[in-house]
Parts: sequence; structure tokens; C-alpha cells
Amino acid sequence: MSSSPIPEYEAILQQRLPAAFMAELRAPVIEPLAYAPWQTADVSVDVLPCDRVHPVISGNKWYKLKFNLVAAWQQDCNTLASFGGAWSNHLHALAYCANRLGMNSIGYVRGDELDADANPMLRDAQAWGMELRFLTREQYRNKQVALDATTWLIPEGGDNEWGVLGCTTLLTPEQAAAYDVVVLPWGTGCTCIGVWRAVTHVTRLWGVSVLKGDWPARQFADYRHAHPQPDSRPAEILTTYHCGGYGRTTAELLSFIRKFGDNTGLSLDPVYSGKALFALDERIRKQALPAGSRVLFIHTGGLQGVRGFQSLTG
Ligand SMILES: *Cc1c(COP(=O)(O)O)cnc(C)c1O
Repeated sequence: MSSSPIPEYEAILQQRLPAAFMAELRAPVIEPLAYAPWQTADVSVDVLPCDRVHPVISGNKWYKLKFNLVAAWQQDCNTLASFGGAWSNHLHALAYCANRLGMNSIGYVRGDELDADANPMLRDAQAWGMELRFLTREQYRNKQVALDATTWLIPEGGDNEWGVLGCTTLLTPEQAAAYDVVVLPWGTGCTCIGVWRAVTHVTRLWGVSVLKGDWPARQFADYRHAHPQPDSRPAEILTTYHCGGYGRTTAELLSFIRKFGDNTGLSLDPVYSGKALFALDERIRKQALPAGSRVLFIHTGGLQGVRGFQSLTG
């Protein structure tokens, strides 16, 4: 087995990220999450607030991007390009990073009926210098784009090997070992897979899929088959909490998010973190966890995109 490239990548980031940018990054600190129904069930839940890693870059998007920056530099690429929907936290984060690091950025956006004024996420991206290229749904599906050698192309959602590697740095195996279960949302699965690679056999991983269908479970099984780990490493992709599909919500989900926020002060977005915590809440209520269980919830961010949900932001 080859040794991990992570120390070298982290060292390159230390050298190349401008000090002013480094100063904006915060290492998230785990804290307890007190919610009466969980206390009644005698399940203790802590939160790893990755949403606070940076004031602008949405939580897990930083972890997915950081080693992609290193890869781009190593390939002498000064332009970053990627794909996303109109409300993509990933494109938003990419545009911000490129701007702050003096790089160019190109965002391929799904929907040729849109323009840069379509919403505040795209307006931000354009203001940070991202060149927005709007694709028809057909073009977006094919993702065939012509790029020159100085452009580093990152897949939709930052889901590549560098993205996964970055997500392995979300928490240490020692941190994870204090918990019976680690819970986080599954979109492309990049973040979950990175976390799965970081935890050890004593911790069970629950990835809550925000997409309709049970294929994320198969996608994970395939990944697991192709990347065997040295220990058993239990994991489960929960595929019944998507609330109708990506970006869809139910009244029950929205009311849970509101109630949870009122009770704990923790804001959740309805696309990702809200569904993950909703799943955890239901499982605790249905007594899927024995009394005394310790759970870590990873808050992956997403609060920029909440601007798309007026009913939550008032
Ligand atoms: C993008 C995003 C996710 C999904 O992460 P994947 O790595 O694609 O699974 C989860 N939570 C938030 C808040 C996100 O913005």
C-alpha cells in the first residue's frame, strides 16, 4: 500500500494559501447537542459543526476542494472548472476560492434558460469572477466540455479522488472512535466515503441519502468492494429519508427543522443536513439505538442555499 499523500498536500496548502485566506478558516470543534426527545431515549448526540469551517464556503465543500487546489497547482492549472445546478453550494464555494487564490473559474450550470441574475448564489459566483456557462439539460447530462490544458476540471459536487481524500480529514479516527454512530448526509457520496475511510471498525456510519432511489446504497457497496479497508468498518446508506427527492421537502421535514432550530439554536438546511438529522431523530424515536448510544452528527453546511427556501428564512 502506498503511503498517504495527505501530509504533503497539507504542506502545499500551508505554503500556497494566502495568509488572509488561511485566517478565515476555522477548525470545527465538536460540541454536545441537547434535544429533549433524545435525552429521554438516553442517546447522546454531539455535532461536528463543519458549517463553521469558513464564513462563505459551505462546510464540506472546503474539504472536497482543498486537495483539488493542490492537484490543479501540481498540473500548472490556473483555471478551475466544474458543474452544478443553479443553487450549487459547490460552484459557489469554487468561485469564492478561485477569486481569493487569484485563479480563474468556470461554472457549467444546468439550465440554459437561466442567467447570472437567476438567484443570489449565481450572482455571488459571477461577482467573484466565475465565468458561467449555461448548459441545456441534455448538454449537462453529457458533460462533454472542451477545455484547455491549463484548466483543472472537477466533477459535479467535487466528487473525485482528491475530494474524497480531503473529506478523510473531516475527523480523525480517534475522534470517531468515541462514537457508536456517525451520521451525515449523502449527495454524491464523496463526503460520506471520505468519512468512512477515516473512521475505524468501532464506529458505524449512517449516510442519509438525499436522493430518490436506492442506488446510493449500491454505489456505496461498489465503492466498498473496489476499496477494501483493513477492518470491517460497518456502514449503512439510508435511502428512505429523501422526502420525495433532491431538493424536495415535506411539511413534516420543514416543521422538524423549524422545531429543532427553535429548541437547540442549530440551523439546518432542508436539502442536506435537515434530512440527515430528521433521519437520526426518527431512528432514535423508533428505538433503533440502544440506550447509552453515542452519536456524532456531522453538520456539512448548506446554509447559503437556504436562501432558496423562503419559507424557512422568513
Ligand atoms: C454538497 C453538500 C452535501 C453533499 O455532499 P456529498 O459529498 O456530495 O455527498 C451535504 N451537505 C451539504 C450542506 C452540502 O452542501
